Amino acid sequence: MSLPSYRSVHLRVFTVRRFPDAPASESAEVATVLRGTLGRYGAVAVREHGPYWKIPEHLEFTVHLAPSGRVGPVLDALRALAPGGWDDTLERWDSVWTRGDGNPGEVFLHPDVEWAGLTGVEADPVGTPRYRDGDPVRIADTPRNREWEVAGLRGVVYGDADPYGRNRSWRYGVFPVGQDSLVLIDETELEPVTDTERRDRAIASLRGLAVGDALGSQFFVPENRGAFERRETPPGPWEWTDDTEMACSVFAVLDRYGRVEQDLLAALFAEHHDFDRGYGPSTNRMLRLVREGGDWRELAREAFDGRGSWGNGAAMRVAPLGAWFADDLDTLVAQAALSAEVTHAHPEAVAGAVAVAVAAALPPSPPGPFLDAVLERVPAGTVRDGIVEARRLLTIADPSVAASVLGNGRQVAAHDTVPFALWAVARHRDDYVRAFWTAAAAGGDVDTVCAIVGGIVGEPPAAWLAACEPLPTWAGVG
Ligand SMILES: [Mg+2]
Repeated sequence: MSLPSYRSVHLRVFTVRRFPDAPASESAEVATVLRGTLGRYGAVAVREHGPYWKIPEHLEFTVHLAPSGRVGPVLDALRALAPGGWDDTLERWDSVWTRGDGNPGEVFLHPDVEWAGLTGVEADPVGTPRYRDGDPVRIADTPRNREWEVAGLRGVVYGDADPYGRNRSWRYGVFPVGQDSLVLIDETELEPVTDTERRDRAIASLRGLAVGDALGSQFFVPENRGAFERRETPPGPWEWTDDTEMACSVFAVLDRYGRVEQDLLAALFAEHHDFDRGYGPSTNRMLRLVREGGDWRELAREAFDGRGSWGNGAAMRVAPLGAWFADDLDTLVAQAALSAEVTHAHPEAVAGAVAVAVAAALPPSPPGPFLDAVLERVPAGTVRDGIVEARRLLTIADPSVAASVLGNGRQVAAHDTVPFALWAVARHRDDYVRAFWTAAAAGGDVDTVCAIVGGIVGEPPAAWLAACEPLPTWAGVG
């Protein structure tokens, strides 16, 4: 991997709010400082997001710097502004700065900056058009796939899709010319599926997941606090986050091939990765590297000294897979594990995904037998121990009490998230609204806990679905 392929620098900056009553003017002031400082390095676009949705005490900014091929020096120069505070387990062009013990009194960009993520971006920010209709397209048949090339980007298409996704959005593995291709599967091994029952179940789960995620993330908006205390929903539209974006990729792969194709799933995660959807820094980094041709197998194992991440990221996106394979639990367990490994190789993350997938497959039943049935399929470990504990706590009605024992996702670990989510589901398996409010009441990683709960319970109320941002067209849900 070489630096010249980077075209711009992407910064996420978070400042402590000094004037809680005037977020707009404070935000504008900080943005002016950011523009002034960063303007030295090239054209700069600063976007103000206001209070950060996950930590309302912080203001959030995203900055795109287009330094005309000088990305390497710009990243070095930015890091030199604050020599301490960088997390050096990441790479210098993909690092996180935090104000902390290691750098007392140090300032990065502005005195109120609490933390910042710094990334070299290889192409335009995801989500903006990378090419326009009418750009010349070259499609080449290769021994394995048909490749296309347009506007300096290359990708691979399968079957009868075209590079603009006019039929369906099958456009995988976008990466700059000159990079090695992503590892892609041999399409001759694959049979498109037409199982509408599985598909319908998965779509219901995906909708439940998206609404849980989107409404749960509204919990972090300070203006909504009163509404949530009264158990009223805030006005829409509610934007979904990384949980839904990744679940859409899981669904898209199943919808096309009826099973998890890991290389394809990694390519979809990477292609549809949107910085502004609340991904954690290590996932941001991993998906960028996959997009550039990195091997997800190596990248997924890098975390935790080679054991892989035990975060809740595999569990948060897996419920639609569980609904898909609800008629075949043996296959479901294997497929859930395959879907987890693409980003979360640690056995606890895999166990969390298996538990959620099984829960999404089971029909409604009384709380105790429901969790017993989940436990039958979950391998031994911390996640399983947590679910056993959740089973014991089913007689308790207060979500805060249950969460104080089981966790509420605050550590964003599988074992800190899945047992509580399953506790909430077990108590309200057939009532989406009550399950949501129960899950949301404990605080913590509300969007992810509610995404898990919503994905398991499935089909949300029509009014909630209407208030939720629509699923992306590329997911093919229709
Ligand atoms: Mg999220």
